[in-house]
Amino acid sequence: MTAKIEHALTTIGVLALQGDFIEHESMLRRLGVSTRQVRSAEDLRGLDGLIIPGGESTTFCRLMEDFNLYRPVGAFVQTGAPVWGTCAGMIVLAGNASDLAFPTLEALDIEVLRNAYGRQVDSFETDLDIAALGEEPFHAVFIRAPVVGSVGPGVEVMATVRSEPAGREEPVAVRQGAVMATSFHPELTNDVRFHSYFVSLVRTSGTSAGSK
Ligand code: GLN
Repeated sequence: MTAKIEHALTTIGVLALQGDFIEHESMLRRLGVSTRQVRSAEDLRGLDGLIIPGGESTTFCRLMEDFNLYRPVGAFVQTGAPVWGTCAGMIVLAGNASDLAFPTLEALDIEVLRNAYGRQVDSFETDLDIAALGEEPFHAVFIRAPVVGSVGPGVEVMATVRSEPAGREEPVAVRQGAVMATSFHPELTNDVRFHSYFVSLVRTSGTSAGSK
């Protein structure tokens, strides 16, 4: 009961230029968190956290340019408020993204390779062990996901997928301080644990960007 009331005071924005922002909003609402669709700098004011959804990163970047959102979203990340990118959102937050004709926000010290899982495993689903979410595996949906090619020293790898034939463990969920990214889509499942984890991050960080 108390937790629900506290959550109601938390507002998390979802970048709503394109992609599956509605699905993120409904997950957050299920957790009793207020949400706001972000399409302008004004929409970022007073938010406690921000999600950049899945979609198409080139389109996101083009629209962020058209809507003059590059600077405001970059400034929001700089405030230290929690930010989470899923799939295309991960690409937008990365330090470097292959084959993207636009700048990224460079909020995470990772390098991503777009659409690099290869045609045969282009989209797939698998169960992941994610210690931060508890014992039960998390069913992860990957749709033309980026491959995380490298991670910097300050980046915590929360989950990996074994890639064949390379035979290496590829990071699919990462966190660097308050910035988090997953190459899969928790918003497309019924499992609210990842959203709940992000909400806890938001609630414990206590940073509210801009005045309410
Ligand atoms: N392949 C897309 C891109 O490069 C991302 C796909 C997704 O978000 N599901 O932006």
